[in-house]
Amino acid sequence: MNYIILDLEWDSVFYKSEKRFINQILQIGAVKLNEKFKIIDTFEVTIKSEISKKVTGRFARLTGITTEKMLLGKPFDEAVLAYNEWVGEDFVTMTWSNSDLYTIMENEESLLKGVKFKIEKYLDLQKFIQNELKLSGYEEKNQISLSNAAELLSIKTDDIDFHTAKDDSLVSAHLLKKCYNKQRFEALIKDVSDPEFFKRLRFKSYAISKLSDPDVDKSQLIFNCPECSKKAKRVSGWKYSNRWFWANFTCSCGKRFCGRVSFKKTFDDVIVRRNIGEFKIKKPKNETAQTAVGIGE
Ligand SMILES: [Zn+2]
Repeated sequence: MNYIILDLEWDSVFYKSEKRFINQILQIGAVKLNEKFKIIDTFEVTIKSEISKKVTGRFARLTGITTEKMLLGKPFDEAVLAYNEWVGEDFVTMTWSNSDLYTIMENEESLLKGVKFKIEKYLDLQKFIQNELKLSGYEEKNQISLSNAAELLSIKTDDIDFHTAKDDSLVSAHLLKKCYNKQRFEALIKDVSDPEFFKRLRFKSYAISKLSDPDVDKSQLIFNCPECSKKAKRVSGWKYSNRWFWANFTCSCGKRFCGRVSFKKTFDDVIVRRNIGEFKIKKPKNETAQTAVGIGE
């Protein structure tokens, strides 16, 4: 089995026929590693845009791909076919964060019309490296950049130009070699031929706004008294505002409160959050979670 580290450079251009901006791929860069993570081959191809005559100044500065260089590139479909031939058989494809995959999907649908990137198994290298860094004590909530990760792991980058596709792939290869853990690495490999993979990638989580939604677990609408723990009685209808359902409750002990619940639908789950706040006498305006006493969170 080989490993392919793929890195794309794209420029945001206005696509007239769809009347919107699109992240058009203008360079495909990759390195191929053997099972011991030794680099055995590299690939780089620049693409001639079919929808714009020039690149943006920002893109040219970041990538070194000038309009002149872009215009000398290959047609997009030929470039992808050349890449597909180069990757060979039996390999895992990696990119630094899965944003490259969104761009690939968009380009396949809008610009490639039939030609597809050959990706069979996939691993998000950023996710893997960030997790390894976390296990060694580095905490970062935001997604870490490739250059930061290289610095943290003391990868020598003096002669590397970040934001050129091939050099980024080379840095990624060094990071992988340094951090590799067989078990945790293999656990992150996804099967791209499984239709679920792209469904999951496309899925945007959202807040459920109707209690009749089949994903609403009705047992979450029952609230117990925060004072005496007895089951409370709902004394108002359910209202929905700002992603939360709420209703007033009373208890036989005399306690009155507002029960609040939200349901967030993700690809795999429904994430339920509940809390208890002040009994609402008037219709709430500018209601915030700060007035609520957290419960069940
Ligand atoms: Zn009570």
